[in-house]
Amino acid sequence: MQLQSYVCGGWRYGEGRGVALRDASTGETIAEANSAGIDFGAILAHAREVGGPALRALTFHERAALLKALVKRLGELKDEFYLLSYRTGATKSDSWIDIDGGIGTMAVFANKGSRELPNASVYLDGAVETLSKGGTFVGQHICVPREGAAVHINAFNFPVWGMLEKLAPTLLAGMPAIVKPATSTAYLTELVVRRIVESRILPEGALQLVCGSLGNLFEHLGCQDVVSFTGSANTAQSLRTHRAIVRNSVPFIAETDSLNSCVLAPDAGPGTQEFELFVKEVAREMTVKAGQKCTAIRKALVPAASVGDVVAALQATLAKVVVGDPRADGVRMGPLASLDQRNEVLARLGELRGEADLVFGDPERFEVTGADRERGAFVPPLLLLCREPGSARAVHDVEAFGPVATVVPYRDVGDAILLARRGEGSLAASVFSADDALASRLVLGLAPYHGRVLVVNRHCAKESTGHGSPLAHLVHGGPGRAGGGEELGGIRGMLHYMQRTAVQGSPDTLTTVGGRWIRGGTLRDPGRHPFRIPFNELSLGDTLLSAERVVTIDDIEQFAGLTGDTFYAHMDDAEAARNPLFGGRVAHGYFLISAAAGLFVDPPYGPVLGNYGLNELRFVKPVKPGDRIKVRLTCRDKSLRADKGWGEVGWDTEITNQDGETVASYTVLTMVSVHAVPDAAAGN
Ligand code: NDP
Repeated sequence: MQLQSYVCGGWRYGEGRGVALRDASTGETIAEANSAGIDFGAILAHAREVGGPALRALTFHERAALLKALVKRLGELKDEFYLLSYRTGATKSDSWIDIDGGIGTMAVFANKGSRELPNASVYLDGAVETLSKGGTFVGQHICVPREGAAVHINAFNFPVWGMLEKLAPTLLAGMPAIVKPATSTAYLTELVVRRIVESRILPEGALQLVCGSLGNLFEHLGCQDVVSFTGSANTAQSLRTHRAIVRNSVPFIAETDSLNSCVLAPDAGPGTQEFELFVKEVAREMTVKAGQKCTAIRKALVPAASVGDVVAALQATLAKVVVGDPRADGVRMGPLASLDQRNEVLARLGELRGEADLVFGDPERFEVTGADRERGAFVPPLLLLCREPGSARAVHDVEAFGPVATVVPYRDVGDAILLARRGEGSLAASVFSADDALASRLVLGLAPYHGRVLVVNRHCAKESTGHGSPLAHLVHGGPGRAGGGEELGGIRGMLHYMQRTAVQGSPDTLTTVGGRWIRGGTLRDPGRHPFRIPFNELSLGDTLLSAERVVTIDDIEQFAGLTGDTFYAHMDDAEAARNPLFGGRVAHGYFLISAAAGLFVDPPYGPVLGNYGLNELRFVKPVKPGDRIKVRLTCRDKSLRADKGWGEVGWDTEITNQDGETVASYTVLTMVSVHAVPDAAAGN
């Protein structure tokens, strides 16, 4: 079978013979991959001219709905993916990380897209910046989708997660993707893409797939494209210096090799829960995906006094690992993804053995269950001990991308930090400690050199997601050798595929550009109370200016009596007079916002269904008995919940006193029906 690429709206074979892709356990040929003869300029043009415009025509919520539909469809089909995944050497639990992990990551982006983003297509980055005394000239950062293609180059170890974790933020941003999986496991990615294409959920051009090499695609890259790469540091280095990348300043996000450390803190001696948890985690990280994880633990840093106990405990744990064909009963660790990878890992092991002793596992002698040891890409778990890590080089520099880790003794916390930092930039580190002060010292020492730091103690261990799991909510990437890139991290992950632009102008201009009313902009009189206006008829800037109300001592005392808030600044003349901020009794801040609601609400049944909170609440100036307050309420932003029959409306709210000074400022968050008089049964 020849793997096909999905390009320019159709499935295409490459010309001629391709690279043979083999079952990792049996060596049997599964397919050939070849992209020769494909017009790479046309693929980029298809993404830019067909996929991009279709995605950009959608709002964030509509794109999030596409992701949600994909999550549902892929979830229905996952048994088929699991079956094929065995051929990559993955056990069922390895496949869970790849397949369910990938679908779950996409689900997080679907949820975040619909909850944290507006139903709009411009993303506002941060608050308005005041640039002038009179407030007529302001600035706002906006993010818009880049109008090129996102080229995703993925590693062989996660053929599903690797694709979906990049695809989700890209589509949410409104950018089309061209996915190039690593050739050795491309058959699984191809199956998933085939099912996505068949589902017709995505607009044409939003997703293309290249099985095989990328040919001369890089020659055609332009300033609106993005490349996101996962793989070896060497490949990253050669690709990021490609002349088209350099000439056009194409963003190049890289996630590469990493010598990740796991630190057993000095407090976590043998017999403590943290010691047990550490041993379990190191053994788990060595064997999950047969150690083929960019985040896997390579250096287990332990206090010199605990080395003997740690090695003995790891030897006992690793002895229980059954290696073999992942389809066979009882197998806990499968083969590497290919024979090439086995050769690569054994060569790297040779380098490590020059300065570390092998204390568990023998690559020449080990049992394999349900498969032929030579035909499959099998390697047993291999544990090394480096006795002189200060003068060692390979242990800090050589990544054996398999079930290989080295125990590294350290003298004190400062030494542990220095040894971890010798990786020159890593994706993840973990610390096992029940002493938060110690853990904090380690975290702050590790942070400049690591993209993510996990601290495990007995309180969080049960729910901890573990050392090796990148999470959709948190950034994944690392400095230096780890590639210097960032992926994921919630909405942050989407922004890599958008252009951030600083826009300057008048408040009205920026209100129109960004879809959020800005103070200093026109206050519109809608001719009726804004709470009587259904969602679709409300305009940004629609304003209510309330009547005035005097705040009395009686108000303050009644509010104190009703709520029980009898703080001295409201209730005690003498003590309040001593307060340097107030110099006398003042109204409760919460009374002011309650009184403001009394001034601005429109009581009868109508389109405003409810109030779900306040944002950015600030009490700016105290209000004293006898002061007069009034409120301005202005429609600030709108986001339709299309499937619910209502939309979210934020109201910019300002309470001022008799001198026109602001005493409180906030945004009132409401749900407003699309109907003037909502139907009691309608949509909530
Ligand atoms: P590579 O860097 O060789 O490959 C990674 C991806 O880049 C693959 O899709 C590969 O495609 C592609 N690629 C390679 N050369 C080019 C090129 N000239 N133009 C465009 N794309 C290219 O890494 P491997 O997957 O072979 O793994 C090698 C080592 O990398 C591992 O042993 C490990 O040390 C490290 N690694 C790190 C990972 C991480 O997540 N940080 C993940 C996987 C590996 P193709 O497969 O067709 O060559």
